[in-house]
Amino acid sequence: MATSEERRKLVYTIKELCRVCYTCVRECPAKAIKIINGQADVIAERCIGCGNCVKVCSQDAKVFLLTRNEVKSMLHGGEPIAALVAPSFPAEFTEITDYKRFVGMLRALGFSHVFEVAFGADLVAQRYKSLLEDKSGRGYISSDCPAIVTYIRYYHPELVENLAPVVSPMVAISRVVRKIHGNIKQVFIGPCIAKKDESDEIDEAITFRELRVLFEQSNLTPDGVPPSEFDPPHAGRGAIFPVSRGLMQTVNIFDDLIEGNITVAEGRIGFQEAIKEWETGSLKGQNLELLCCEGCIMGPGMSPGGKRFERKTYISSYARNKVAPAQLKRWEQAIADFSDLDLSKSFVPDNKRIEKPTEEEINRVLAKMGKFSPRDHLNCGACGYDTCLEHAIAIVEGLAEVEMCLPYAIEELHETVKDLAVSNEKLAKMQQALKHSEKLAHMGQLSAGIAHELNNPLGVVLMYSNILLDECKPDDPLRNDLELISAQAERCKKIVSGLLNFARKNQVKVDKVNLKNLADDSIAGVVIPKDVKTQVVSRTSNLLADLDYEQMMQVLTNLNKNAIEAMPNGGNLTIVIDGNDQEVIISVSDTGEGIPEENMDKLFTPFFTTKGIGKGTGLGLATTYGIVKMHKGRIEVESNNNPQKGPTGTTFRIVLPRKADFDLNTENNV
Ligand code: ADP
Ligand code: MG
Repeated sequence: MATSEERRKLVYTIKELCRVCYTCVRECPAKAIKIINGQADVIAERCIGCGNCVKVCSQDAKVFLLTRNEVKSMLHGGEPIAALVAPSFPAEFTEITDYKRFVGMLRALGFSHVFEVAFGADLVAQRYKSLLEDKSGRGYISSDCPAIVTYIRYYHPELVENLAPVVSPMVAISRVVRKIHGNIKQVFIGPCIAKKDESDEIDEAITFRELRVLFEQSNLTPDGVPPSEFDPPHAGRGAIFPVSRGLMQTVNIFDDLIEGNITVAEGRIGFQEAIKEWETGSLKGQNLELLCCEGCIMGPGMSPGGKRFERKTYISSYARNKVAPAQLKRWEQAIADFSDLDLSKSFVPDNKRIEKPTEEEINRVLAKMGKFSPRDHLNCGACGYDTCLEHAIAIVEGLAEVEMCLPYAIEELHETVKDLAVSNEKLAKMQQALKHSEKLAHMGQLSAGIAHELNNPLGVVLMYSNILLDECKPDDPLRNDLELISAQAERCKKIVSGLLNFARKNQVKVDKVNLKNLADDSIAGVVIPKDVKTQVVSRTSNLLADLDYEQMMQVLTNLNKNAIEAMPNGGNLTIVIDGNDQEVIISVSDTGEGIPEENMDKLFTPFFTTKGIGKGTGLGLATTYGIVKMHKGRIEVESNNNPQKGPTGTTFRIVLPRKADFDLNTENNV
């Protein structure tokens, strides 16, 4: 068995089962559990083996070191082996009504001797009695609980000198056994995990839970074995030892008997508080009896689910028999026999306290969690630490993570949800735009088909009406009709040409075009009413771009016309030229009536117009769209038609590649 200096890892995490609820972090008095990458891991060097984490993990993700197989091989080895049974056994094996059957089962399992650790407790109690009666005012801390001893050695090393310099009941009985039987092998059986690493005077230690498995594996039942008595020396009051205040009852003294100078504290909160108070001096003159569990009967090596007070009754009724007058005489004799046995023990401090990080380091971590002032410290405890400060310190020490902070995680989640909503909105907009351009593409195909079919017959009508017109005398009564036919056919031709533009079935003839000149020309090409002011603004020094001048001229003319028509009462028409190395942007803005929201999707659809019959063809923007697409550009609209939201007006933005890095001089279907 390893000594405490070369500790085995007593508790493990089963990673697959750990749901990272931080309960173990909260319950670990030694802060020996670190959360790294969302996994709770036990740090062997800091663990005191109390097994709290094993008890509280609802997912059974914490398991303790099993040594039952080692014991099994020892039992098969043929050597005599002594079992040292902890006095809490009646609280575990409650189904075995006669303890002698339990002893019988141990013997049947292969133990040559079965001893009561409770007798060790009796001997230890005698030593405690003299310590407690010592009026030097020194104050002792009980050293019978190995988890407490380790806790003090690691985390309160200056209190080590106060630990009662007496061995535990387990070691006491082990020394008794050695005195009687020499160097016989010894196995401790009890409710405790920490015992597995307490002392190298014992060869191995297993828990009651492990013993149950060994019984099962050997098919041992109480009825299947002959009853048998423990090997002497038999215990007396020591049988009561595993319940809290047991030590004092064992000593047969009560706190008020020795002037109330014993403070009993048990459980992970109780014992830590008692130590803290002791350190501050408020427990001056007191002796501390500390138990890590709520009495050994609630130890992690007991089967889970047992009730504390019910277990107490089992211990009491077992102990009652032990102090029967008939037994007492023999017991007193046994105590006397071992009165000179050396039960002394010295403890060595092993400081494992981590130096407190600097204020600056702590504040940096707190800021990361969004905690800038005391008001931000919610101290909700969800992370497993009592305060935000403790959590921050643990993070600096590398034991915890920022993500363990629930308010922080919720905040992060909110941010993520917000981001998601924004991207969703963006996605929806893009989807709509895609649908829209798909629709326009379908319409383009249809328009192209119709326009193509109409183009030839229309040419014929136009040509023959012109021939007839030429041959017609000026005073011919048919002349008017012929002129009408020719004019309407011309109009049809324009419509067809507009459709072909929309369907991007025309050719683009690229030239280096000066955009300022283009804009000026476009304004010169439309009739500007008196009350409309025009302006061309260049915001880029590089005014050249690869464009089809004629077609772009058509685009700007259409946009200018629309702008003017949107301002029947006058206003401003502004063309702004902007851009960078890759792109040029031409914006045409008006201060007109604006476009209603419901029309925004329809603007580029051929024949969509809000202007009266004979006034608009609804082809201006469709043509514009087609031409811009042929230039591998895009067109965007921004408009406000609600005076309550601000000045009304519309801006069409055309974004075009500055350089034609593709062959524009061919028909394309982009
Ligand atoms: P048309 O001018 O023949 O109606 P367009 O394709 O040029 O056809 O325009 C389609 C419709 O878009 C117009 O009828 C008008 O309702 C709307 N529109 C276009 N430009 C503007 C603008 N600058 N201001 C307000 N509405 C506009
Ligand atoms: Mg128009």
